[in-house]
Amino acid sequence: MAGDTIFARILRGEIPCDEVYSDDSCLAFRDVAPAAPVHLLVIPRKPLESLREAETADEELLGHLLVVAAKVAKQEGLSDWRTVINSGEGAGQTVFHLHVHVIGGRSLEWPPG
Ligand code: AMP
Repeated sequence: MAGDTIFARILRGEIPCDEVYSDDSCLAFRDVAPAAPVHLLVIPRKPLESLREAETADEELLGHLLVVAAKVAKQEGLSDWRTVINSGEGAGQTVFHLHVHVIGGRSLEWPPG
């Protein structure tokens, strides 16, 4: 359940994070195991497990997450970056609370593995 994940615990203030942005609907913080010089995560306060559970009612929230992703990327001084949302174990999702990765600060290969 999304309510029981490590990100839910961060949102409840039970464990610390290196916060870079916060508002009423989302939180952004540094990834604890960065894949690049800048690696941020933007998460909704709403406990959505992944993009698979998103519904039409979540359109505004999902758009907001992307706007915040761009805001924090620019806040970090990035002009180029990658946003990634892994949906499901087979796609590399390990924390089942929806999150947008913001990765940058080095050149990035495409396609990803
Ligand atoms: P994913 O594999 O797409 O589910 O991404 C989960 C991300 O969460 C990984 O990049 C982890 O390094 C990161 N992560 C796990 N626990 C924490 C934590 N306590 N604080 C910050 N990032 C975390």
